[in-house]
Amino acid sequence: MEVKLAKTAGFCMGVRRAVDIVLKIAQQEKNRRIYTYGPLIHNPQTIELLKSRGINPIANIEEIKDRENAILIIRAHGIAPAERIKLKESGIKVVNATCPKVGYVQAIIKKHTARDYTVIIVGDKDHPEVEGLLGYSGGRGIIVSTLKEADQLPCIEKVCVVAQTTQNPDDYSKIVERIKQICPQAVVFNTICSSTEHRQAEVIAMAGEMDAMFIVGGRNSANTRRLADLAQQKQPATFHIETPAEMEKIDFGPYNRVGVSAGASTPNWIIDRVMDKIMEGQSRKLKTLGMLLSLWLSAVKTDIYSAIGAGCLCLVCMALQERPVNFSFAAIASLFVYATHVLNRLIGRKPLGFVGSFREDAYLRHEKMFFYTALISIAGSLVLAFHQSWIVFVTLFVISLAGLLYNMKIFPSKWKIQSLRDLPGSKNILMSIAWGVTAAILPVMDEKYFPDAGLAVAFLFMVGIVFIRSSMADILAIQSDKLLGKETIPVFFGKALTLNILKVISLILFAILLFSSPAGWTSSLSFFLISCLLYLWICFLFCDKKPVLSEAVKEGLLETSYVMAGFCVLLWRVF
Ligand code: SF4
Repeated sequence: MEVKLAKTAGFCMGVRRAVDIVLKIAQQEKNRRIYTYGPLIHNPQTIELLKSRGINPIANIEEIKDRENAILIIRAHGIAPAERIKLKESGIKVVNATCPKVGYVQAIIKKHTARDYTVIIVGDKDHPEVEGLLGYSGGRGIIVSTLKEADQLPCIEKVCVVAQTTQNPDDYSKIVERIKQICPQAVVFNTICSSTEHRQAEVIAMAGEMDAMFIVGGRNSANTRRLADLAQQKQPATFHIETPAEMEKIDFGPYNRVGVSAGASTPNWIIDRVMDKIMEGQSRKLKTLGMLLSLWLSAVKTDIYSAIGAGCLCLVCMALQERPVNFSFAAIASLFVYATHVLNRLIGRKPLGFVGSFREDAYLRHEKMFFYTALISIAGSLVLAFHQSWIVFVTLFVISLAGLLYNMKIFPSKWKIQSLRDLPGSKNILMSIAWGVTAAILPVMDEKYFPDAGLAVAFLFMVGIVFIRSSMADILAIQSDKLLGKETIPVFFGKALTLNILKVISLILFAILLFSSPAGWTSSLSFFLISCLLYLWICFLFCDKKPVLSEAVKEGLLETSYVMAGFCVLLWRVF
């Protein structure tokens, strides 16, 4: 089955900007109540997610009780000037997140109203953007939604015509033509947002090529409904869905080519889950290959693949130092990684069943089972560690405890930072160090072993590769992490700076791997491991350019670098 995701699917510039403004304020003003004037975007799932972070929509300023400690955000659709004055007079701190393109239409109306023009707004009567635009027309604005309404217009001498930014270009030109017949002197502005035009054009083209179309987005979102209507006109097998759960009953059997697009207010994490569901449907059709793909994806989603990767990296560390292979330590690393990842996901997940990461979907369905398997794994790793030596046991016990404390509120409630996970970048840094200790340092603790350059290289390789991989995955998931309030490195530093940091770390790691063997610090395996670094970067650049791949697939591809390191050990032994 061929699956195509529209390039224009998801947040438009105006919505992304409004969401970023709100999330930045939520991050900086932790002691103030944050409100949006109306729902920030027309997507119920995202609104619920924002509510869980204390960002609540209000319809009226009377709903705000503690005004001195409140911040009110004007959403991307904008509001009428009279309302803006009312908000200013209320004494509440107001932040304007109106989309600049909507601001441009407001300016046209304001300018022409001042010159005695009557303004005709072509748009949906009850849409907040149109209501806001009407407010700029000095009480002389007319809203026209259909051709029939255009026919009933009187001939007005000075008339200016604008469109709601999300109108369909064809419908707008037909209405404009009719207005021009009645008022030939009408001054017309094409104020349809280019993002809307491109999105609609792409959906029309895709619907003509595909056997089925999925339009993802809120049913209360006018632009999503319009996309679904346009797709339906070309392709009767069009499904307007709000959540991936609605796809359960759809039979993918008859469709060989499936197209997916989404409204301007649909967040990436919902599009991603939809792609994941389509992938599931696709793998069911592929028989043996599909079964393998499903197995691989299940392993990625349930952290089993990470655990296998940790075991492989532990073998790499031993081989780098030319130490005899001890599979017990590889098992300790695997069980430790599996248990801490699963327990942290179960402890740290969002309330009300919100699915923050693609993995939580699986965990939510079998919560108890995962909880007990994680407990058994941690117990198993401790027993194996005890079997090696008491120092290995104590070290593993301490890092396991530290790993479990990561999501727990351990700091006083007055502090801005309540748990380790609130520290920006802490996940990537602490996880890399924990993996480094488990895979590189634990295996040498059972002997009277003096730390040497070989151990340092093994530890740095471990920490480096885990840090680069996890940060790359966070770059790919930056939008959903922002919404969920996760303090990852890309959320804190931004994508560009994070990439520069990763490039520097990669170069250092590259140099260490290149020179460690000639310097006599490690075995010649270090040369083979350079391929893992190269793979990570090629894989990241590929995933970054391929939105059609779901988050689970991208994560799995990045994690394959660990398994690849394990294969490097095999190859190195053979050669
Ligand atoms: S669709 Fe266009 S005008 Fe509307 S919010 Fe998005 S970028 Fe702004």
